[in-house]
Amino acid sequence: MPDALTCLVCLEPLTATTEAWCQQCGGSYHLNQRSDLPGKDCGDVWINEESMALEFSCNRCINTPAPGLDDILDLAEAAGVVGLSPAALAEAADGGQVAHRKTGAGTYLFVRQDLDTLTR
Ligand SMILES: [Zn+2]
Ligand SMILES: [Zn+2]
Repeated sequence: MPDALTCLVCLEPLTATTEAWCQQCGGSYHLNQRSDLPGKDCGDVWINEESMALEFSCNRCINTPAPGLDDILDLAEAAGVVGLSPAALAEAADGGQVAHRKTGAGTYLFVRQDLDTLTR
């Protein structure tokens, strides 16, 4: 018998009828698969309408917000975050070292999380 798995959302043990795997973080979480038994849900499952496949996600990933406007930085702001000069950051972006988007006007845009690859 392997060790009982614990739910990554509430940290309580999982049982065979309440166990599901999050496809985003790979963790296991509570998902009550038996409507005739009491159980708790620490995540959700739904059908992807394009692939018709079941998609599993824990509450931690469901509640992680997608990047908002506050997390979109222009070159000068992003350079301040990573501690580089704007020119050095533009060079890193052009060199493919950090994900970015360049607008038609030539403005560099960065997502805050992507800058972690430069500060690590
Ligand atoms: Zn749980
Ligand atoms: Zn997850």
